[in-house]
Amino acid sequence: MAKRILIKNISYLITMDSDRKILKDCHLIIKDNKINAIGKGLIPKAILSKDIEPSNVEEDSKLDNTNKFVESNNKEDYDEFDEIIDAKDMVILPGFINTHHHLYQNLTRCFSASQDVPLFDWLTTLYPIWSKLEPYDFYISALVGIVELILSGCTTTVDHLYIFPGGQDTVIENELRAVKKSGIRFCLARGSMSLSEEEGGLPPKELVQEEDEILKQCQKLAEKYGEKKSELKNQGKRIQEDNNNNNFPKMKSGQEYDNDEFPRTQLILAPTSPFSVTKSLMEKIMELALEFNLKCNTHLAENRQENEFCLERYNQRPFDYMKEVGWIRGNVFFTHTVYLNEDEILKLAKSGVGVSHCPSSNMRLASGIAPIKEMLDANVNVSIGVDGSSSNDSSNMLAETRMAMLCQRSRGSDKIISTEQTLEMATLGGAKVLGRDDEIGTIEEGKKADIIGFDLNKIEYAGAYKNPIGALLLCQPTNVALSIINGRLIVKNGKLLNLDLRKVLRKHRERTKLLLSR
Ligand SMILES: [Zn+2]
Repeated sequence: MAKRILIKNISYLITMDSDRKILKDCHLIIKDNKINAIGKGLIPKAILSKDIEPSNVEEDSKLDNTNKFVESNNKEDYDEFDEIIDAKDMVILPGFINTHHHLYQNLTRCFSASQDVPLFDWLTTLYPIWSKLEPYDFYISALVGIVELILSGCTTTVDHLYIFPGGQDTVIENELRAVKKSGIRFCLARGSMSLSEEEGGLPPKELVQEEDEILKQCQKLAEKYGEKKSELKNQGKRIQEDNNNNNFPKMKSGQEYDNDEFPRTQLILAPTSPFSVTKSLMEKIMELALEFNLKCNTHLAENRQENEFCLERYNQRPFDYMKEVGWIRGNVFFTHTVYLNEDEILKLAKSGVGVSHCPSSNMRLASGIAPIKEMLDANVNVSIGVDGSSSNDSSNMLAETRMAMLCQRSRGSDKIISTEQTLEMATLGGAKVLGRDDEIGTIEEGKKADIIGFDLNKIEYAGAYKNPIGALLLCQPTNVALSIINGRLIVKNGKLLNLDLRKVLRKHRERTKLLLSR
C-alpha cells in the first residue's frame, strides 16, 4: 500500500516553482516518494468543514494565502496517513542540492600543515596522507560528511571521488554503503588523475592511474549507471549533449523506484583538473560520457597558479583548453570558475555549461572570488557546492549558501545578488546543473519528495518571522528540524532517525587517528 505523509499547518512553504510562490498556512501530502498534493486535493474529507487553525503568522501581501490549511478535530480523518508532521512555525522548502564535495577529506579536516597555504601546496601536503586511506575510511568519512550535509538541509549530494587506494571497486562500494545508510540522494562523480608529478602534473605517481585503466573502470560504471545514447534515441528521449538541461534520462527502464526506499545513484564522469589529467584522457572521457548520456564535471580556473599552468603547458587559458578537448557543451559543469573573463562567461551561458560555486573553499585557499553575479546575469546555470571537507572545512549547505551571497556582496558592486537568487542556486540551480530539474529542486505536485524544514522559533531567527527567505539567508544558520528524502523521513524534530551519530563519530575519530599514524 502507498505510504502517505501529511505535513500540516505549514507556516511558510517556499516552492521555488516558476512563479517563486511562497504559500502560507498550507499543508502538503507525500505519497510514496513523490509530492502528491499541496494545500488542496487529498485532504481528509472532514478537514475542509472545520475552522481555520489560528496562526501567529502575520499577513503579508506578497505571500499567497489562497490555500489555507484547515485542521480537523476528528481523529479518523488522519487515519490514512502513516506519518503526520506539524509544521507550525516552520519554513518548508525544497532540499538543498550540493554539487561538489570530496567526502573522504573529512578525515583530514583542519590538517595543521596545510591550513595556511594556497591550493597547490595544500594538495601536495595532503596527497601523501590520502594515499594511505583504507577502504573502510571511505565508508566512515562519507557517512559523517553526508550526515553533516543532511542536518544542514541537503537532500542531494554529488561526491567527486578521485582517490582509489585499494582499487575502485572497494572504495566505491564502501562509499555507497554509507550513502544507503544515510538515505541521501546521491551522484557519484567518478574522478580520475593520470598526469603525475613526473610528467609535469601535480599529484604523486602513487595516486595516478593509467589512462586505459581509468577508461576501463569508467566504462564499467557507465554500463551500470548510464544509458546508451542509441537506445535513448530509439525511445525518443532527449540526450545530454543538447544545450538544454531538462534532458537527463528519467530512469533506466525497469529501474523506476517509486516504491523503493532508496534513490538511484546518478553517475557523473569527472576527470579531476587540468593539472592532474592528461589531455587525451579528457577527450576520451567525454566520448564515453556522450555514448552513455552522462554528465561530466571537472575543477576549472580555480586559482592563478592553475591559470599559469594551462598557459605554460597548453599555451591556453583554462577555458580555451576545455574548448579544445571538447568540453564546452551542455552535459558539462565546472567547479570553481574563479578565473573566467566576460567573454568566457557568455560562452558558458550559450553552451549550457553549468557551474558549481564553492565560496568557502575559494576563500580558505586564497584562490579568489568567482564572478557569480555576472554569471547569473548572463543566465549561466549556477549551483552551490561545499567542496571537500579539508578545504572548507564544513559540510553545511545552508551556511555555504549564505556565504555565497555574502561573498558576492563583499565585492562591492552596485549589482547586489538577492536572497532569492542565492536560494535558487542552492535548490533549483543545483537541479538544473545536474540535469534533474524535472524531478528535484522545487516543491511541486509530482516531483520527488525531497523536503526540508527549519524551525522559526529558534533564537537565531528571532525578529525574522515575517520573512522566510531572509530568515534562512541573513540570520545565523541552524540545523534542520525536518528532512524528508525520496519520501523517507530522515530528520524529525531535529533528530536523525536512522543512525546513532555518537557511535559514528567515535568510529570516525578512531579512523582519523589511525590514518595520521600510518
Ligand atoms: Zn573540489
